[in-house]
Amino acid sequence: MDILYNADIIVVGAGPAGISAAISAVRLGKKVVLIDRAKYPGSKNMYGGAVYSEALKQIFDEKTLETLPYERIINSNTWSFLNDTGSFDLTYNNSSSKSAYAIKRFNFERWMIDQAKKEGVYYVPNTLVVDLLDDNGYVVGVQTELEKYYSRVVILADGVNSFLAGKLGLRKEFVPKDMILSVKETFKLDKKTIEERFRLKSDLSNGVAKMYFGGLKEVKNIFMMTYFYTFKDTLMLGVGVSLEDLKRNRLNINEVLDEIKEHPDIKALIKDAYPVEYSAHLIPETGYKKMPKLTANGVIIAGDAAGFINSVHFEGTNFALISGKLAGETAASINDFDYSGWNLSQYRKKLEKTFIMKDLYSYRNIIENLSKRSGSLSYYYPKKIKEFFEIITSANCISKSSQIRKFSFSFLRDRNITELLKDITTFIKCGIDIFFGK
Ligand SMILES: Cc1cc2nc3c(=O)[nH]c(=O)nc-3n(C[C@H](O)[C@H](O)[C@H](O)COP(=O)(O)OP(=O)(O)OC[C@H]3O[C@@H](n4cnc5c(N)ncnc54)[C@H](O)[C@@H]3O)c2cc1C
Repeated sequence: MDILYNADIIVVGAGPAGISAAISAVRLGKKVVLIDRAKYPGSKNMYGGAVYSEALKQIFDEKTLETLPYERIINSNTWSFLNDTGSFDLTYNNSSSKSAYAIKRFNFERWMIDQAKKEGVYYVPNTLVVDLLDDNGYVVGVQTELEKYYSRVVILADGVNSFLAGKLGLRKEFVPKDMILSVKETFKLDKKTIEERFRLKSDLSNGVAKMYFGGLKEVKNIFMMTYFYTFKDTLMLGVGVSLEDLKRNRLNINEVLDEIKEHPDIKALIKDAYPVEYSAHLIPETGYKKMPKLTANGVIIAGDAAGFINSVHFEGTNFALISGKLAGETAASINDFDYSGWNLSQYRKKLEKTFIMKDLYSYRNIIENLSKRSGSLSYYYPKKIKEFFEIITSANCISKSSQIRKFSFSFLRDRNITELLKDITTFIKCGIDIFFGK
């Protein structure tokens, strides 16, 4: 069939992966159309709060980055184990670090779309792609609700659900284990109170990120993470739990967040703040082991649609930006009009050389392994840490050695030795995976 192409490349999805792909392809002289179902940039998207500067620097020059609409630079990170009344925290502060920015999602996407339009990308909002067009086994465009658009290559950057990749048969059916469900509340609090409470400067040059383990009253075998970020005059608090754990425990994620908000440490963070937004989103946990086929004739997949994320470290936008860049560059650099899956598979080879494939590989078992020990991480060890610190911080007129002896015996008595060995083996396995990763 003779096709009248509307564009060289169509990108489906204007999140960080899609916009980065579109910008990278247009820079190589291609005619690029970027389609998103959302009426306004970023209005369908949601995340915790951190965008990482190194990935941005690989796409935008210094002058452009000066206009990034960030609200604070995140340079204090805390990892915290919550027990029933308090916590054990590890905090790392680095006042000179500029590696992560707290940016509202709609501001980030709007800013990126502005850059893309300036560079010549044709942005089509408010348009749902419902199918892909096929010509002799090649994807040659997209079917929207209203019309057909033809292109030589389609880049799928349509996020976690990517039903288009599913339709093409590039990925397996999802099961509950493959997804984390997260809900997040945004709280408004005046800027000055935020700065006093978290000891932040008024020039927005510092900000706080916190990750919490545990915090639920009853022992529940669920692997959950709570996250918290400071913005200019808002705070973000959210939890993420595997869909499988929610299903198995018949839990409602909203109730998990409500319970966490009652923990004394969390309550103190959001005191006097009032909720202004509530949102929910899935996080792909398919990882390296269930990665879709990344290319086929006339099509490339990038970002969350390919499961490119490291949820242990809350990194996803950087995976999206860099995979998008490589997808855009690969699609744009094919000169002989042969857009076969074989030619486009250069994309995977490029990805293999980056942190994306290396980290996905090293972390391929981590969530699955830690999930199996979720009762230990979220309940048992936080409880024992509390008991230990009670001993060393309270001058209760009882000899320290007798208390430490009692604590050690209780540690071994309460903990079935098989469980203890399983915990130790899991932590060692995780360490080995990361250390000997790619
Ligand atoms: C709760 C949560 C917290 C997170 N926290 C962080 C964090 O702090 N830092 C970090 O780096 N990452 C974080 N992430 C991960 C990060 O948000 C994602 O990895 C990243 O947004 C993926 O970008 P993307 O462009 O691939 O997909 P998305 O950002 O999901 O964009 C997909 C786009 O495709 C569009 N779309 C979908 N289907 C269609 C269709 N059929 N037709 C047209 N348009 C379509 C959508 O409207 C959307 O704009 C978090 C994620 C979640 C859910």
